[in-house]
Amino acid sequence: MRIAVLSRNENLYSTRRLKEAGEERGHEVDIIDTLHCYMDITRSRPAVRYHGEELPYYDAIIPRIGSSVTFYGTAVVRQFEMMGTFCVNESVAISRSRDKLRSLQLLSRKDVGLPRTGFANKPDNVKDLIKNVGGAPLVIKLLEGTQGIGVVLADTNKAAESIIEAFMGLKANILVQEYIKEAGGADIRCFVVGDKVVAAMKRQGAEGEFRSNLHRGGTAKLVRLSKDERATAVKAAKVMGLNVCGVDILQSANGPVVMEVNSSPGLEGIEDATKKDVAGLIYAFIEENAKPHKTRTRGKG
Ligand code: ADP
Ligand code: MG
Repeated sequence: MRIAVLSRNENLYSTRRLKEAGEERGHEVDIIDTLHCYMDITRSRPAVRYHGEELPYYDAIIPRIGSSVTFYGTAVVRQFEMMGTFCVNESVAISRSRDKLRSLQLLSRKDVGLPRTGFANKPDNVKDLIKNVGGAPLVIKLLEGTQGIGVVLADTNKAAESIIEAFMGLKANILVQEYIKEAGGADIRCFVVGDKVVAAMKRQGAEGEFRSNLHRGGTAKLVRLSKDERATAVKAAKVMGLNVCGVDILQSANGPVVMEVNSSPGLEGIEDATKKDVAGLIYAFIEENAKPHKTRTRGKG
């Protein structure tokens, strides 16, 4: 098949692995810089242009849209959808997953386990908001943060109030969340492809750090999932409408709770921790599913 990886940087581990794994399986793989794509939105013949030429027809694209380019990146993916190209993750699902509040709202409606979470716009609701998620200690998060930046642990109600008010004063959108202390600074990244968890790792935050992000000094190791954890991850991916994603789960006293669903999960950490050919498994999914005009808005429903 002829397949394009939409990525801003061909030197990233994930991008390189996707090219290599695709070629190993006999595909022709191009890496296309998302921000250099431009679109020809013409009646009945949509196209994507790149460095002065129209791109060839691809059987599938693998979108790797960084959180800093969500708006333009999803427009490019949408344009491929208009052309009937099979997109591994569909544009609406990518946008959905980028907004933590929107994701949690959709997951809660489908009865997926979640940490108790609140959201407010006005400082006069702050005390009640804090009470509703069970009081301090609690976690305050920027709605579109990533890599652990913008996630704060407030130890007391007073500290929580000040932090929330400060964020609100800056007009930043935040959510307030029950702190899952028993997770012990660890979380589980479930890598979902299609309707299966193909690899999973446990990430442990650095000493004295409650955030387990590898970018914040966390370490990862292979983990065996419980049936409940596996089912939760698969269901979360389905609700979000993502074919390939990383579902992050905390092990709470009440069972697994979903923290977030990432539509461009990194391959380095997971392949390293599990020694699995996750990139290859993404191609196996494409080989089985890619057909023209098959990408349509799924999930939510
Ligand atoms: P980001 O998108 O920046 O990665 P996350 O919501 O994933 O933000 O939070 C970063 C890390 O902080 C998580 O991987 C987890 O280790 C920790 N964390 C986040 N929310 C909670 C919570 N409610 N309880 C306990 N730990 C949390
Ligand atoms: Mg995270």
